[in-house]
Amino acid sequence: MRTKLLYMDDSYMKEFDAQSVEVKENGVVLDQTAFYYRGGGQPSDTGKLVVDGKEYAVKEVRKEQGEVVHVLEQKPEFGAGVQVHGILDWEKRYKHMKMHTAAHVLAGGMASERGALITGNQIGEEQTRFDFSLENFDRELMESAIARANEKLAENLEVKTYILPREEAMKIPGVVKLANVLPPAIKELRIVDIGGYDVQADGGTHVKNTGECGRIKLLKMENKGKNNRRIYFGLE
Ligand SMILES: [Zn+2]
Repeated sequence: MRTKLLYMDDSYMKEFDAQSVEVKENGVVLDQTAFYYRGGGQPSDTGKLVVDGKEYAVKEVRKEQGEVVHVLEQKPEFGAGVQVHGILDWEKRYKHMKMHTAAHVLAGGMASERGALITGNQIGEEQTRFDFSLENFDRELMESAIARANEKLAENLEVKTYILPREEAMKIPGVVKLANVLPPAIKELRIVDIGGYDVQADGGTHVKNTGECGRIKLLKMENKGKNNRRIYFGLE
């Protein structure tokens, strides 16, 4: 990958300067970006790129053949090697960060306190979908798991990210199930640590403090079998 991912060090970066590395059709590869590309259940950022005073809407950012491609609404009138100013649609991204962080806290508690595993997730601006593998599944249980998560969120836990060597990271309970699926070539893992309550290898964007998330509100439950208990939640 030729692109440095600026959000890994600073997920609050709303604007940035970069150089175009490659331009193909409507796709632009930059030497660095603060745009999150679609992945890990979190949608891509949107926003705009500004080149020579001309604005190009970024409708999607995705990983294609190992490269981070900013897909523009219109064909760019520039090539490689020019200065680009990027501006994120911050309101949307911040909602994703809050949802993503709240999802960690809920999933962390579901895993450590109830033995549930996450089998799928899709983060959204207004609602997030979560699928669990869980023996018992009823509204009372989910409400109590969410009440517990809300207690933890209200504790204003600090969210820290740091890099650990793979062997060290693998010793952390709960991080292993994710680290196991990583290719052996990856020697260092980025760890996201939410006040020690949920610790996992993760390349996503999070808020700095769980107090920013607000409260989780259960919106809907769907039972799709033991390995697919589905809930939708929002934040209030
Ligand atoms: Zn995360």
